[in-house]
Amino acid sequence: GNVPLARREEASRKAFDEAKQYIPGGVNSPVRAFKSVGLTPVYVDRAAGSRIYDIDGNTFIDYVCSWGPLIMGHAHPEVVQALQETAAKGTSFGAPTLLETEMAKTVVERVPSVDIVRMVNSGTEATMSAIRLARGYTGRSKILKFEGSYHGHADSLLIKAGSGVATLGLPDSPGVPEGVAANTITVPYNDLESVRVAFERFGEEIAAIIVEPIAGNMGVVLPQPGFLEGLREVTTNYGALLIFDEVMTGFRVNRSCAQGLFGITPDLTCFGKVIGGGLPVGAYGGKREIMEQMAPSGPIYQAGTLSGNPLAMAAGFTTLKLLTPEVYDHLEKMGARLEAGMKRNAEEAGIPLTINRVGSMVCPFFTEGPVVNYDTAKASSLDTFRRYFGEMLTRGINVAPSQFEGMFVSAAHSEQDIDDTIECHYNALKAL
Ligand code: PMP
Repeated sequence: GNVPLARREEASRKAFDEAKQYIPGGVNSPVRAFKSVGLTPVYVDRAAGSRIYDIDGNTFIDYVCSWGPLIMGHAHPEVVQALQETAAKGTSFGAPTLLETEMAKTVVERVPSVDIVRMVNSGTEATMSAIRLARGYTGRSKILKFEGSYHGHADSLLIKAGSGVATLGLPDSPGVPEGVAANTITVPYNDLESVRVAFERFGEEIAAIIVEPIAGNMGVVLPQPGFLEGLREVTTNYGALLIFDEVMTGFRVNRSCAQGLFGITPDLTCFGKVIGGGLPVGAYGGKREIMEQMAPSGPIYQAGTLSGNPLAMAAGFTTLKLLTPEVYDHLEKMGARLEAGMKRNAEEAGIPLTINRVGSMVCPFFTEGPVVNYDTAKASSLDTFRRYFGEMLTRGINVAPSQFEGMFVSAAHSEQDIDDTIECHYNALKAL
């Protein structure tokens, strides 16, 4: 492969040292600091397609893709053009625009469970608002979530969470009041029996189950057959809502999201990442009767100065338009090719590796597996992952600096990119 074999990092190190004087930990989102892998973060200068270019002159094939949003690749020309044209007309009005309705219509057309949808500015806002709505609608206080799932950083969802808090070993953050935590029930992912036991005990008090239909924040973990169906059944039986957090899976795994892939109809769905095409966007939507409880049509409050922002809508809408069936075919092909190559490498190198994958979400775990929940994900060798990450970065491959995050393949990743990555992966495993 035509990738560098050593990483220059002097400029990035200097930039990080200076940033630490002005920004907590030097970063505006924790995992970016590379703390758990003990390396200097990559300071990005620019990016295009499948590549990022850092301020030290290194080039990387990128599998972070801004942690999911850039499904069409970096700086897609049509997205950039839409942003430029929109910006020239003004960046924010605090008044409705036609683009917001077009965007909402597109979501409603693609996702059958969504009759009506509200735009917000992040995945965190989407899940936080959906939880408030579920509580307001049902008149109940408790929610049920799964260990190792991450639904953003709202108080009630930051309990036994995955993603960055798992990476940093902070699953229960200080600052979340006990009274709030007491209303969040957590059980293992894929464990329907524990869900049933929780409902037998607290069923009349539970407003909602919130679930990642494919978990992506304990690494990638697929729902076992019957799991999502079971959640649908138990919530229906107890009059609780089923909330799918599709912030990561939405419009990534399928044109109609994970719920389309599995044929399950949740009551509410949360979106983020891809729906914003690289700008700050989240959304929540679902059954009309429930969603119309939100102000101004109903009494439950949620608002946002920049919600439905024209630039954000332009990037998101353009990205959704670009997501044709051919793009999903390409993502599946590239994901499968990467998975097969990485598996072959691990066998040849004699290193235990379990790869979980759905379409363009690909996750190598350093364990014999299978990985079906947070406990089995945590059985991975974090020390091996740490060294693996460094070996990949040195070879010009940028993966997430955490065992608890998957790789994202984009439409811009070519067969050559995948094959170069497989070769680097082989050499990285050999160097461990
Ligand atoms: N839910 C899920 C499933 C996520 O993966 C994330 C972000 N990784 C969030 C919610 C939070 O989204 P944001 O970072 O945009 O607040």
